Amino acid sequence: MSERNEASLADQIDALLPQTQCRKCGYQGCRPYAEAISNGEADIDQCPPGGDQGIQLLAELLNVPAKPLNPEFGVQRPLQIAVIDETACIGCTKCLPPCPTDAILGASKQMHTVIAALCTGCELCVAPCPVNCISMVVSTNTEWTKANADLSRLRHQAKNQRQVKAEAEKSERLNRQKQLLAKLNKGKTTV
Ligand code: SF4
Ligand code: SF4
Ligand code: SF4
Repeated sequence: MSERNEASLADQIDALLPQTQCRKCGYQGCRPYAEAISNGEADIDQCPPGGDQGIQLLAELLNVPAKPLNPEFGVQRPLQIAVIDETACIGCTKCLPPCPTDAILGASKQMHTVIAALCTGCELCVAPCPVNCISMVVSTNTEWTKANADLSRLRHQAKNQRQVKAEAEKSERLNRQKQLLAKLNKGKTTV
């Protein structure tokens, strides 16, 4: 299969995944899992949020038999969202970096809050909270639609791009500092 076809297969697989970016499949998000399936590295039964319906769609796309969700990766549950107990929040911001869709609003030393419409229920913010003030509750929105998945994919891509840009800027800054130090040291040795 050509590289172009492999990329397009990953795109087609990614389009069928729920985009909660929860990492329960064992990959860093839906896109890496889609690529792993398209490369033959991962099986189609590893996505708990997609459940049996998602596996069925993947099986049809790939023309392979469907199978049950592999319980090693978790179980399918009703859609949940995170809720922050704002009276207990200490404003440490530790929940912000793990959120794949930037669904948490807050700044240092201020209480934080979850924008329910943007929360994918991934649970990635729960463990980093040092005061255990984030709980997962069953969402009143019972259906995770394709529009939800598309919005989540876009927001996750935007967050990833921002992180890559910030890393590049940081590394450029460090390089400039190193070059300046090297120049200063050279100046000292030639005096
Ligand atoms: S929804 Fe979660 S488990 Fe499913 S593919 Fe995306 S990151 Fe993996
Ligand atoms: S608020 Fe928490 S559960 Fe909701 S998307 Fe962000 S990290 Fe996931
Ligand atoms: S990690 Fe917990 S305490 Fe820290 S800002 Fe987030 S919700 Fe508040």
